[in-house]
Amino acid sequence: MRILIIEDEFDLAKALAKGLKNNGYAADIALLGEEALQKIEFNEYDLAVLDLNLPDIDGLELCKTLRAWRPKLLILILTCRKRLKDKVMGLDMGADDYLAKPFHFQELLARIRALLRRDLPTKEPILQVGDLKLDPSSRTVFKGNRRLELRNKEFCILEYLMRRAGEVISQEELLEHAWGEEELDFFTANLRVHIHSLRKELNDDAQNPKYIETLPGVGYRLKRGEN
Ligand code: CA
Repeated sequence: MRILIIEDEFDLAKALAKGLKNNGYAADIALLGEEALQKIEFNEYDLAVLDLNLPDIDGLELCKTLRAWRPKLLILILTCRKRLKDKVMGLDMGADDYLAKPFHFQELLARIRALLRRDLPTKEPILQVGDLKLDPSSRTVFKGNRRLELRNKEFCILEYLMRRAGEVISQEELLEHAWGEEELDFFTANLRVHIHSLRKELNDDAQNPKYIETLPGVGYRLKRGEN
C-alpha cells in the first residue's frame, strides 16, 4: 500500500515516512500542496496523510481537490487545529479521518490500518486466497498451517496480488503500490527478483504455477485457488 505524506514540516514528514516504511508501507513526501497535486496526478496512492496548515494551499481546499480528483483515495487529516469547526469542515470536504497533533505514531498507524481495512470490499480484515491467508494488521501470512517468513517487499507484493486475486496486475501497477517514488528506479529491475523469492517461499513453480502466474509482457496474476 502506498501512502503520500503531505506535510511541510520536513523533520516530521521524514520521520513519518521512515516509520511508515518500517511498517511495510511505501511512502512519499510532498512538502507543499502544489507538490502533492503533482504527485497525485502522476502516481497511484492508496492513502494520503494531509496536514491542514500548508504554506501554499489551504489544506481544506486541497482536501476537496484531492477528493474530486481521486474519489477512492483515503484521506487522513493531520493538524494541530483542534477546533471542532475544522474537524467538521475537514470531514465535509471529504476526509476519511482526522487526527490532532501532537499524536502518537502508533495511533496514526492504527488509524491507517483501520482506513485501509474499511476500504476492503468485505469487513473481514484477513485476506484469503486458496490456502493462503494474509493478515494485513499483524503482517502475517500462512500457507495452510505453515507460517511464511516474507521480507517487506515480498509481503507488499503478495498483499496487493491477494487483494486483486484473479486479476492481471501490470508490473507498473505492482511497482506503484509496493514501492515509494525514491525507491522506484533502484527496484524496478528487481521486481522479478522479488517475485522469484516470493515463489520460492510459496514453493511455487514458475513453469507450472499454482499461485503466481507470469503473463509475459503484461504482468502477474495470483490464481484464485480452489484448494
Ligand atoms: Ca504544517
